[in-house]
Amino acid sequence: MKNVSSIQNCYGCGVCAASCGKRIINIRLNEDGFYTPYIDNPDKCTQCGICLDVCAFNHEECALKPSELNVKSWAAWSNNEAVRRKCSSGGIGFEIGKQLIEQGFHAVGCRYDTKEQRAEHYIATTVEEFVQSIGSKYIQSYTAEAFKEVKRKEQKYLITGTPCQIDSFRRMIRKFRCEENFILLDFYCHCVPSMYAWKAYIKMLEPKIGEITYSSWRNKFEYGWHDSWLMGMEGDKTSKPIDWHDSYNLLIRGEKTFVQSRWSQGDLFYRLFLGDVCLGPQCEKNCKYKYNKSSADIRIGDLWGETYKDDDKGVSALVCFTEKGRQIVENLKNVTLVEHPFEVVAEGQMKENAKAKEMYPIVMWYIKKGYSLSSPIFKSLLLAQRIITRIKIITKKL
Ligand SMILES: Cc1cc2nc3c(=O)[nH]c(=O)nc-3n(C[C@H](O)[C@H](O)[C@H](O)COP(=O)(O)OP(=O)(O)OC[C@H]3O[C@@H](n4cnc5c(N)ncnc54)[C@H](O)[C@@H]3O)c2cc1C
Repeated sequence: MKNVSSIQNCYGCGVCAASCGKRIINIRLNEDGFYTPYIDNPDKCTQCGICLDVCAFNHEECALKPSELNVKSWAAWSNNEAVRRKCSSGGIGFEIGKQLIEQGFHAVGCRYDTKEQRAEHYIATTVEEFVQSIGSKYIQSYTAEAFKEVKRKEQKYLITGTPCQIDSFRRMIRKFRCEENFILLDFYCHCVPSMYAWKAYIKMLEPKIGEITYSSWRNKFEYGWHDSWLMGMEGDKTSKPIDWHDSYNLLIRGEKTFVQSRWSQGDLFYRLFLGDVCLGPQCEKNCKYKYNKSSADIRIGDLWGETYKDDDKGVSALVCFTEKGRQIVENLKNVTLVEHPFEVVAEGQMKENAKAKEMYPIVMWYIKKGYSLSSPIFKSLLLAQRIITRIKIITKKL
């Protein structure tokens, strides 16, 4: 068949579903907890091949060619203290979206859906709506519905997403000849973890805080930005449901959130995620977007390097790959931009893909079986992984 049914363990970006004229591609979790396309009515497929053309996973190189690149890089942050405090790094992603919405764009961002307990893309038409996109959600986002709703020829959009989502999106808007209506923004991306890890985490929290009503993925309040791997979670036992109509006020909400871990980097979800024991096979084997590889106009990230090591409010790495991106950035208001060479802005970013660690198959087995992260097995597995890694470091030095 000339369609995505031949593709296994892809990025799950959802762009094939949005580009299919017959609307027969649906995105669901596969048995390992990663989004995957399924063709539910194969008889209706006309074999046009568009889903394969727009699929980033199906191509070796990024959609942006080296000849199209015009790289410029900055350290950046919002001059609004509340925005900077709430966002994952310097709040530059929010400022770009906010200012484009004020110019008439719609912004496609990622929010946390408490009913479905998942991250999902949605279309924000006002700044207030865009507030929900603030902060990284360190799980794979479900994009298909929002991407399908984008009116490609009628409206200007900012699209934000992981580098693989954005690479496919670039292919789609080229295919449909409407690239001029879009600004594409991606971020440095470690990888995405299995949704079963997130479900196991929720299972651990719900007895304490009830059904999750709010999730803030990185909380700077207790330890500052450099040590901000804290989950701020609320449930129906700890707070009232969020009224997103009052969303601008949520910018100052951080202090009130139930903070999940007393030890910033000790939070079990982050230890699983950053410990590479539940990452997607597609991230390990097929990510082609590390360091300076991207199909976005603009890339954001955490500027973790030496230059800003004493800054605890948060500094965004900001890179433009295209002339279009540069113009957007240089016209931003109410932000601080400090130009640096790319190596300074990208210091500390991964140059190679994350590699699954020894405990990966065992951790995956337990989370797929539906164990809660409160089960002592996970602490034992993480400890075992730590010992193995330490032994490997020592034997390498000898
Ligand atoms: C899975 C994941 C892995 C990451 N890995 C790294 C890394 O290795 N190094 C690094 O420097 N930065 C990484 N980041 C990015 C980083 O966490 C911050 O988003 C970045 O510093 C920008 O922060 P900000 O303050 O400007 O904006 P923020 O307010 O944090 O803006 C985040 C933007 O990302 C979008 N977004 C949030 N979650 C998702 C998601 N799950 N899927 C798609 N889009 C989403 C939102 O729509 C928003 O536009 C990662 C983010 C994610 C979601």
